[in-house]
Amino acid sequence: MKKATVAAAALGLMCAASSAMVSAQVKGVYWTTSGFAGPFPISGLIPTVPKEKQRDVTIPISTWIIDHPKGLVVFDTGNNVAISDGNCKSYWAAGLCDFLKPSQKRSDVIDEQLKKVGFSPDKVKIVITSHTHLDHVGNIAMFPNAIHVMQKKELYQGWWPEKFQGRTSPGTFVMADLASAREFNYLELNGDYDLFGDGSVLILSTPGHTLGHQSLKVKLASGATMIMAQDAIWMQENVDGYPAGLNYSVQDYTNSLNRMKFMRDIEGAQLFYGHDQDQYAAKGGRWYK
Ligand SMILES: [Zn+2]
Repeated sequence: MKKATVAAAALGLMCAASSAMVSAQVKGVYWTTSGFAGPFPISGLIPTVPKEKQRDVTIPISTWIIDHPKGLVVFDTGNNVAISDGNCKSYWAAGLCDFLKPSQKRSDVIDEQLKKVGFSPDKVKIVITSHTHLDHVGNIAMFPNAIHVMQKKELYQGWWPEKFQGRTSPGTFVMADLASAREFNYLELNGDYDLFGDGSVLILSTPGHTLGHQSLKVKLASGATMIMAQDAIWMQENVDGYPAGLNYSVQDYTNSLNRMKFMRDIEGAQLFYGHDQDQYAAKGGRWYK
């Protein structure tokens, strides 16, 4: 083969490879919040925080929109729409409303958030739910035609929580959130999963906060890697060594947190926490590409 032919063939191969890579790239990730909760003492969530580090926090209820060429993805659907505009006690337990003080307005709810960034809610192909607590699975029923991705154990947990995590509904689990979603189309997982088969959106099994909690790892077109921990890491204090309260298993929680810290340190992944007021103020409400 002549040199020019070899070069042309090589170029063709490179083009084929790069176009394959382009099709595999996430177009963008948008970080938003289903309103805020608070202010309340940080010790209400993280009892291990020492006295000198006590402060009041007003936390975001993180939800994520991921635009991939093979489909629009929502990661967590936030607080149920019924608690919007001061109507918390009509749907959540009064005690939780008094402690959490959710500020969600109707315009903060995931369907409206999708519209704000140019998407019709019925275009959502996949809904990934980190876990079945009230501030993450609240609006799953808004997406009856989507594929719903959850750890199989979390489905068990959502419908029959451990007694020590509270079976009274509404509590941190709100049975009504899931009631109309029982017959949805679930991709039931037992561990990690490469969502589009191209390595761009990886579901990470991160149990501990609940029995079947999962997080997300997204590789952007820019080459950056984001990890949306959701409640596997609430906020910076957890990374600083103060374990969260409310855990199903402290051992699993610690292993999950460490796993993501190693991804940060070895791969250079950026960690995004589920409920960190300072991080959301600095980095929330915008696109990542
Ligand atoms: Zn949460």
